[in-house]
Amino acid sequence: MEATAKRLLDWYDANARVLPWRAPPGAPPPDPYRVWLSEVMLQQTTVAAVGPYFAKFLARWPTVKDLAAAEDADVMAAWAGLGYYARARNLLACARAVAARGGTFPDSEAALRELPGLGAYTAAAVAAIAFDRRAIVVDANVERVVARLFAIDEPLPAAKAAIRQRAEQLTPDERPGDFAQAMMDLGSGICTVRGPRCLLCPLSELCTGRREGAERFPVKPAKTAKPQRRGRAFWIEQDGKVWLVKRADKGMLGGMRALPDDSWSARGDGAADPPLPDAWEPHGNVRHSFTHFDLDLQLMLYSGCDWARLAAQQGEWWPVAELDQAGLPTLFAKAARLALAQDREN
Ligand code: SF4
Repeated sequence: MEATAKRLLDWYDANARVLPWRAPPGAPPPDPYRVWLSEVMLQQTTVAAVGPYFAKFLARWPTVKDLAAAEDADVMAAWAGLGYYARARNLLACARAVAARGGTFPDSEAALRELPGLGAYTAAAVAAIAFDRRAIVVDANVERVVARLFAIDEPLPAAKAAIRQRAEQLTPDERPGDFAQAMMDLGSGICTVRGPRCLLCPLSELCTGRREGAERFPVKPAKTAKPQRRGRAFWIEQDGKVWLVKRADKGMLGGMRALPDDSWSARGDGAADPPLPDAWEPHGNVRHSFTHFDLDLQLMLYSGCDWARLAAQQGEWWPVAELDQAGLPTLFAKAARLALAQDREN
């Protein structure tokens, strides 16, 4: 085994993080369902944020077949707050495909890649961690470690090819699953974005980036400002209930319950009409940052009494006191908090 992999695995044997979806170093691989579920949840999301969601999903849907049989709305609601909601829709599609093949995940990277919504990274991670297959697993942590180890000067994203090639050279034939997790742990706990702890690093003697100033790597692309979008969300309340809609399945926050809005996400211009005419008052703004743009959402409160017109529209009256069970995505949960805080003031 190559020296870098050996050092890293020795370090991992003594320092592996204990996580609910993991098996200890050297132990037989964990249940593929747990590995897959955790990897989907961990995309763009921290371990600390994922922990409670992982526990909740496992308690409610202990096997992939249970998850496959769940109602879409229940899964979307359970996912609420974790963000990047396309993941929840892909999760269900994948669970159903696995259930259709008897509830067993395929055990090779190529076959995993065939499952719906299962991207290159997740297929590699599940193949390595759940089946101990040699697969090249490169998440943001691994990217940082490799860019530093080899002082890769090229800026991201162009550097990804070189990083992958180096990661491929490092990945051992033995214990590739532990190796992948060891790289993740090193990136998360030692080779951190800021203030890497090089004195504690098992790879410090082999690391070129450390000598050149580790924090310089990976080299970032020149910054471009995120586009700013504006939109409006509409709060309509009657007898302790608020009007909620289900968003279209395709598109941003698809399939989630939400406040009605003016199509800022679907059309980008935020120019669609409110669900009821007239009697709208602005009640402050909510700012939210999505991956590709920042949104300034103005909250409009309805002060009229023409609720009957809603009967012809798709939606439901939801008790305000139980709004925390509606599974609103973070943006609309923020807007709801704003509406309720202002209600109390008025
Ligand atoms: S020596 Fe420092 S920069 Fe290099 S891999 Fe270790 S923690 Fe990262």
